[in-house]
Amino acid sequence: MERGERERFLADAAHIVDRCRRCAIGSTRKRSVYGEGDSCAALMVVGEGPGETEDELGRPFVGRAGELLDRMLLAIGLPRQDVYICNAVKCRPTLFDGARLRNRAPDPDEMANCRSYLDEQIDVIRPRVILALGAPAAKSFVGAAFSITKQRGQWYVGPHDIPLIASFHPAYILRQTGGEINAVKRLVWEDLKAVRRKLDEPPPMPLVPGAEVMQTDLFAGDVR
Ligand code: URA
Repeated sequence: MERGERERFLADAAHIVDRCRRCAIGSTRKRSVYGEGDSCAALMVVGEGPGETEDELGRPFVGRAGELLDRMLLAIGLPRQDVYICNAVKCRPTLFDGARLRNRAPDPDEMANCRSYLDEQIDVIRPRVILALGAPAAKSFVGAAFSITKQRGQWYVGPHDIPLIASFHPAYILRQTGGEINAVKRLVWEDLKAVRRKLDEPPPMPLVPGAEVMQTDLFAGDVR
């Protein structure tokens, strides 16, 4: 799909998501947050769900965690606009604590309801690498048993065989205090470098249709 077609598809899909009421959070959120960035991006970042600032602005990762994400991406040579950024759920999951609405992690039903929208984004963009940030996003790809502390930084096979890696969520980094901050930052830096290395690998050569047949024909006389 060429760029213009991708952009039109994603814009139409964002309108559909905006009308979606599959979950209760579709009615409590202010704005849906579909995703944004380069429709031909090599890297897709998938977070868990919009927070308060994202809900106000209708854009992913634009609060404090988003500012940190921008710096993390720049550290591996990727300006935000060259990446596609979205979330496992497109509406802000909230919890009323008696005084105000607070952010919470999306629940499995909400992620399942939103999954077709995320799959469509992956289908259209076909990034070379997916970076899942935080346990909920990673679990949505790898399975409920995924442990972010034990399994971050490892490569998994994502949708369409796209290499997928998970790391700590920038909001988690911001919550650390004392010596923990540097320890967590070091691990995230390792994960980001792994992403950079994967992106620097030559892209797999696409097989032309019928190439397998041609290959076997080529060796036909030698195979006994
Ligand atoms: N946290 C997320 O997971 N996604 C956002 O868009 C913002 C904060």
